[in-house]
Amino acid sequence: MVRSISILGCTGSIGRQTAAVAQHTGIRVAALTANRKIDLLEQQARQFHPSFVAVYDEEAAKAFKIAVADTDIRVGSGMSGLIEAATLAESDCVVTAVSGSVGLKPTLAAIDAKKRIALANKETLVCAGDMVMARARERGAEIVPVDSEHSAIFQCLMGRKEGELHKILLTGSGGPFRGRRRESLEDITPAQAVAHPNWSMGAKISVDSSTLMNKGLEFVEAMHLFAVTPDDIQVVIHPQSVIHSMVELVDGTVIAQLGVPDMGLPIQLALTYPERKASMFEHLDFWKLRDLSFEEPDLENFPCLRLAMDCARKGGTAPCVMSAANEVAVHKFLRGELGYNRIYDAAAGAVEAIAWEKADSLETILASDEAARAYVRENF
Ligand code: MG
Repeated sequence: MVRSISILGCTGSIGRQTAAVAQHTGIRVAALTANRKIDLLEQQARQFHPSFVAVYDEEAAKAFKIAVADTDIRVGSGMSGLIEAATLAESDCVVTAVSGSVGLKPTLAAIDAKKRIALANKETLVCAGDMVMARARERGAEIVPVDSEHSAIFQCLMGRKEGELHKILLTGSGGPFRGRRRESLEDITPAQAVAHPNWSMGAKISVDSSTLMNKGLEFVEAMHLFAVTPDDIQVVIHPQSVIHSMVELVDGTVIAQLGVPDMGLPIQLALTYPERKASMFEHLDFWKLRDLSFEEPDLENFPCLRLAMDCARKGGTAPCVMSAANEVAVHKFLRGELGYNRIYDAAAGAVEAIAWEKADSLETILASDEAARAYVRENF
């Protein structure tokens, strides 16, 4: 169990829940970072008394510094501020809850500083999975997943020996538009896309869940985290989100992890692991669980998942390009500037348009990420 944490992206959904779990389990919040929501950040800073706070946006950082001038909190800004929070001597764990590729450099810095990484930032592994996992092995830094599916797989694999795993069964709810045809989704509004049936999450990930791009990103993430090939992962649609994922062992045994759909649970385990603590969350009531059902994913009407699986097979910079293009397209959709079905067109178009490269350096990865963003900004 960790004693003291840095939360990168503390004003987002995962960041806020992490702070609450830390308080419940008696873990100190030593550092906080946010992009620019300084009102909430100030409330959190006054509540948790971290030693260091970084605000990514330079202007917002100046305003924040003035707002907390009566405290002894040190304030940093920009990427250097995020890296300082990620490597703070006082923290033994870094929760990477920022959204987007901005999480990449601080995560690598935290690995170099041998911190436990409670990984909630998908882009880190999607864009630079080979590099990040190799670096973590080399430095002996632990990576504990926070995403509910990966936390489930991680738990199902506890105590397993090498060679026992046959395949990973990655479950997903299918999102709010499960069962619908792509043509009928043309006029979906941001409010409809953000209303997830089971999980309460931020806007960007909620849209990704509705297009199944989120499952696609998780597919790539799982491949890296658990060192398996795309053929070793099967996506299973499970609308109730009670089973958070499963593993099938070589003898045919399937081990599943179940729980209420609340992100607080995987967050808490990432902090208390290898211990478990009583939580403040609801427990499953089997008398109320009427049924658990399963379906094949609909790759025809939800082509984002198929695209992500293709990119996982292509490897190199393909997943990064897809993810960056998707991110820009989703934000355009949320601002009302792009139709719902055009999100896929933008992501697929970027993968087609931008030259494939080996993802062997941070420079190449960040250049591909930027090229994908520019492509969507210019063409959509
Ligand atoms: Mg998930």
